[in-house]
Amino acid sequence: MKYVSTRDGSRGVTASQAIIRGIAPDGGLYVPETIPAVDMDFIRRLAAMPYRQRAVEVLSLYLDEFSRQELEDIAEASYGENFDHPDIAPLHVLDDETAYLELWHGPTSAFKDMALQIMPRLLTASLRKNGEQRTVSILVATSGDTGKAALEGFKDVPGTRIMVFYPRDGVSQVQKLQMATQEGGNVNVVAVEGNFDDAQTGVKKIFADREFEKTLDSRGYFLSSANSINWGRLVPQIAYYFSAYCDMVNAGKLEMGEKLDFCVPTGNFGNILAGWYAKQMGLPVGRFICASNDNNVLTDFIATGVYDKNRPFHLTSSPSMDILVSSNLERLLYCLSGDAAQVRDMMEKLSSQGRYDAGEDLRAAVQREFTGGFCPDADAKAEIGRVWRGHGYLMDTHTAVASRVLGDLRQKEGAVRPTVVVSTASPFKFGGAVLEALGIVPQMSGPDIVDELSAYTRLSAPGPLSHLGHKPVIFGQWVTKEDMKKAVSDFLA
Ligand SMILES: *Cc1c(COP(=O)(O)O)cnc(C)c1O
Repeated sequence: MKYVSTRDGSRGVTASQAIIRGIAPDGGLYVPETIPAVDMDFIRRLAAMPYRQRAVEVLSLYLDEFSRQELEDIAEASYGENFDHPDIAPLHVLDDETAYLELWHGPTSAFKDMALQIMPRLLTASLRKNGEQRTVSILVATSGDTGKAALEGFKDVPGTRIMVFYPRDGVSQVQKLQMATQEGGNVNVVAVEGNFDDAQTGVKKIFADREFEKTLDSRGYFLSSANSINWGRLVPQIAYYFSAYCDMVNAGKLEMGEKLDFCVPTGNFGNILAGWYAKQMGLPVGRFICASNDNNVLTDFIATGVYDKNRPFHLTSSPSMDILVSSNLERLLYCLSGDAAQVRDMMEKLSSQGRYDAGEDLRAAVQREFTGGFCPDADAKAEIGRVWRGHGYLMDTHTAVASRVLGDLRQKEGAVRPTVVVSTASPFKFGGAVLEALGIVPQMSGPDIVDELSAYTRLSAPGPLSHLGHKPVIFGQWVTKEDMKKAVSDFLA
């Protein structure tokens, strides 16, 4: 199977090359030239399998250079004891028409583990397939969840090193501790004086430094990224949409073949886009509800066809959705229009004017598959309280956005369709905001909030979060943004 760039549909590369490169040389994103199709028998077979096997079945359709054995080994190493639930991505059925797909049972308690536990292994296998001898060195600038998930994913993976920069004063105390206590022989974590932009700009500069590239090459290293636009991060996510469908059928909440809706808390559009791929393959999905917080640029885009990032940026209690440019949307625009020239034009407008109009046809095509909605912070918090009091089910602030948007939509439409709400983080990861949502003023701070929420709800917190306060800090170093390159050079000496 070939992968083509969204900005030039003609030049194809293999899956392993797409995973190694991350982004196409013309700045576009890689998409499969054709989307593999499955029938209901395929889905029936999946329904009888454990998650790991379901993932192998879906991955093998996209990664045809990888043998079945190879994918089975990768899935086994990626989805095992590192998850605290035997189902890996369990479905919590709330009532007859609503279930929550919990994607946060991995080592960092957020859905990014679903892809970042597997992607490093896909990457190293891809390097082998392409005869790469050097050690790949992943550089990440993070504002929160991605850095920790990437560290856990790459930790002690042979043939890789990983270095994460985070803004010294720009991440929560729990997030800082999660990274500062990171274990692994190939990892490094450094705080940067400044904000996220400073860290991000510094990393981009290092990537663009051709002299430095040569220096690292002579030492046997090359740099790469673990960014969410990499196809290797998108493809593992397709599997859990199939898995959720099967589990709804297995739970007796859906007939095999009946349509199911998904409601997804969205930031960069990567999670929901994986669901859209599952639907194109043949999964019976009614529609995707794209849920946003106060940063509702996607809600407006779906309603009007105009993408406009020229608007105030809101800091919310669902920070992983505080995004104004949803990079993965580019893939959808290409797949729906089939027109690389139009995509190029829209992306150029986005970078020069911060705005583009997708036009009538594309807007209509988007609306056939997606319904947009957003809710303010206060409403999401109220939703956490409502579901906790009414059902004894606790959700995090991101999931709550989707849950509330779904509730509002059902009220507006006066109809209820079977829907899976995609749950993207453990409530303990955002314990302070969750306590507030339950009407409690947190008495503790930092990692102790995890225990406080646990004591109040009598729910046990994920192991890695509850032990955070007792783990030794390994990385206490910080640098100025001018010294970032030196830090990388020292790490890759
Ligand atoms: C990254 C993230 C999201 C947004 O996912 P996208 O793929 O960027 O749309 C939502 N919730 C949580 C908790 C996340 O970490």
